[in-house]
Amino acid sequence: MTSHADSDPAPRVDALLRAARARIEPAEAELLLAHALGRSRSWLFAHDDHAVEAEARARFAELLERRAAGEPVAYLLGRRGFWRFDLRVSPATLIPRPETERLVELALERLPAQDAPRIADLGTGSGAIALALAAERPRARVLAVDLSADALDIARANAAELGLGNVEFRLGDWFAPLRGERFDLIASNPPYIEADDPHLAQGDLRFEPTSALASGADGLDAIRVIAREGLEHLNPGGWLLIEHGWEQGEAVRALLRAAGWVEVATELDWEQRDRVTLGRSPG
Ligand code: GLN
Repeated sequence: MTSHADSDPAPRVDALLRAARARIEPAEAELLLAHALGRSRSWLFAHDDHAVEAEARARFAELLERRAAGEPVAYLLGRRGFWRFDLRVSPATLIPRPETERLVELALERLPAQDAPRIADLGTGSGAIALALAAERPRARVLAVDLSADALDIARANAAELGLGNVEFRLGDWFAPLRGERFDLIASNPPYIEADDPHLAQGDLRFEPTSALASGADGLDAIRVIAREGLEHLNPGGWLLIEHGWEQGEAVRALLRAAGWVEVATELDWEQRDRVTLGRSPG
């Protein structure tokens, strides 16, 4: 006897996965079913004969439909791995990408562990950069800025979940909420896609906030603001690190040099593409 109203036994994990794997990526089907069940993916593999009850089945069916319609897995799960965290994300935030971990690494190379620097992360989104730096440099004080109150709510929730008390959040446009303040390091993964780039209408990008992705005709509007105003907000010798598109290295270096930055250089991402440009405040 089963407790189900219908006479057919409830479908098992293996049967549900088989059907779903025909429609979406197998790994994604596993993540979504595990999520619908409130279990881990490894639990699923150990319980492929588990009978899935109606409520979990309905949750899974909805997730499957939404994924098949293109919604990013990270938004369906409400989570994305970044650095050593499992961050909350929402459609109000960009989905953190591995390239941005490269920026974190480059920032850490310039933040001696014994120091207690002041750090700003502009356009923090889910808080990815700010939280990684705050966790790796517990003596630092990190200020995370975003124009979206909804994004800041997610970033704050991530900080609370990670127990990070050395991050402060401010609502506003780039440097606007930082008037008169100076930092030792400023980091940003700003929007940098060209406004009419056809990629914005494809894949995950369709579901991400346009304000976090696109920035004017050449994609460089936000970076222009940061290049122009950043020097007023850095202590002498402080570093600026900006993520950008793989074809924008030369343009970003030129913008920084023209604005008076020194030691301007571009670093590569894991795929050996230009990804992060650094500049330093002259002493
Ligand atoms: N790296 C993202 C992409 O090209 C864009 C992120 C951004 O604009 N900051 O999909």
